[in-house]
Amino acid sequence: MKLQVAGIDRESIVDGPGIRLVVYLQGCPHRCPGCHNQNTWDPEGGTEMEVSEILGLTETAGLIDGVTFSGGEPFCQPAPLLALAGSLKSRGLNLVLYSGYTFEQLLEIAKREPAVAGLLKTGWLLIDGPYIQQQRSLNLPYRGSRNQRLIDLSLSMKAGRTVLWNNHFLFDEKWSKIG
Ligand code: SF4
Repeated sequence: MKLQVAGIDRESIVDGPGIRLVVYLQGCPHRCPGCHNQNTWDPEGGTEMEVSEILGLTETAGLIDGVTFSGGEPFCQPAPLLALAGSLKSRGLNLVLYSGYTFEQLLEIAKREPAVAGLLKTGWLLIDGPYIQQQRSLNLPYRGSRNQRLIDLSLSMKAGRTVLWNNHFLFDEKWSKIG
């Protein structure tokens, strides 16, 4: 299965907790004013990559805690991403998902798109919502504007309600001890 990819960062500490390999997906319908990744908007841009190729990168990535799907809009390519997500999970890697859609919008889309439902069930954290320039903040972990939420997907899907994730301090402490 193939994915349209804008880029790969093999070692990031700003796209979710811990050290992460980040896959930036190509194509985004949201067109947020002030977006820093406008090169990802065109769904025809970027590079085509096989899911197996990206899996291979995670094997040689060194000491990573997990993988992040960022964008662009990852949920525009749900089927190949779900295939990748399943393999990552079975290898013990956690999954952080970014989306310009809100969690509530994704739950609606999931009713007609099983791969979206599958991604929501497989992911660990979701950073949701569009980037809103008027709500820009440099003080928020892993996100750019105050409307965006850090959602514990595993707990939210089990509980049937939105559960926020507020444990970034534990990770900050872990990394400061190691550093
Ligand atoms: S969702 Fe993200 S990539 Fe898409 S336009 Fe908004 S900020 Fe840019």
